[in-house]
Amino acid sequence: MPTEQLTRPDDIIQPFRIDPFALRGRLVRMGPTVDRILSQHEYPEPVATILGEAITLAVVLSGMLKYEGIFTLQTKGDGPIRLIVADVSTEGAVRGYAQYDAERLETAQSRMNGANPSVPDLIGGGYIAFTVDQGEHTERYQGIVEIAGATLAECAQHYFRQSEQIQAGIKLSVARAGENGAWRAGGLMLQRVPPEGGYKVIADDVEDGWRRAMVLMSSATPGELVDPELPPRRLLFRLFHEDGVRVFETHPIEARCRCSRERIARILGSFPKNDIDEMRQDPVTTVTCEFCNTSYEFSPDELAPLDS
Ligand SMILES: [Zn+2]
Repeated sequence: MPTEQLTRPDDIIQPFRIDPFALRGRLVRMGPTVDRILSQHEYPEPVATILGEAITLAVVLSGMLKYEGIFTLQTKGDGPIRLIVADVSTEGAVRGYAQYDAERLETAQSRMNGANPSVPDLIGGGYIAFTVDQGEHTERYQGIVEIAGATLAECAQHYFRQSEQIQAGIKLSVARAGENGAWRAGGLMLQRVPPEGGYKVIADDVEDGWRRAMVLMSSATPGELVDPELPPRRLLFRLFHEDGVRVFETHPIEARCRCSRERIARILGSFPKNDIDEMRQDPVTTVTCEFCNTSYEFSPDELAPLDS
């Protein structure tokens, strides 16, 4: 393996394990990837920040995919941010967008008086859905949980406790490098995966190991999670070296949308004939991809039902 890949500090998923206590984890670091996604839109700061967190969470959780596929995280709420979508493919292609009400966001912000907005402030009441799509011949998995928590990380932890009975700890951080600088993001997840054939240490030690790892994990500061000068491996060793952390090969991630002219033409072609006839009255029909903000233009001649 080339050394460069081992040490590249940005746009990677770094899996790790703490074997004595059967803990598995992933550290996610994003630089250009998250900056590109958030810069494709002109989101107000709180919207960009929480979308950045949702993208980081989706990348952290995408490690649960066992086969080729797409992991999607979606929030729907009655607050100023109606919708957030973030998805990640097994190849590491990441994208995301948010829909929000600018007026309601401003009202909420003025009410908060400069304090950091929480998930209830921004998303309101609603739910978070996690979808795993592993292709045509597999069953689509979807998990849904009510929004309960001040941060997206708390909401996800709540989900694991409630629905999956998995003990997991998650930390997320999104920040800009200086005022109006490039966006950066970091995420850390630790989960308990009881080993087949039982533990090799006594039960009390396993409990202690888990509790200590959670305390160590929470000692990582939001700044450290996004610090470009602190390589992911160094951060992991700093946190968990006493418990024998082992790091594995990293997976690269990048900002890449799956939209294309052909794909959008196919969607338009699947509309009812009346709708297509109506679109053809306009000299140009423009469709903009919500994820990456790319616009595609179609002339009346290019619009036709799929079966014609
Ligand atoms: Zn797109």
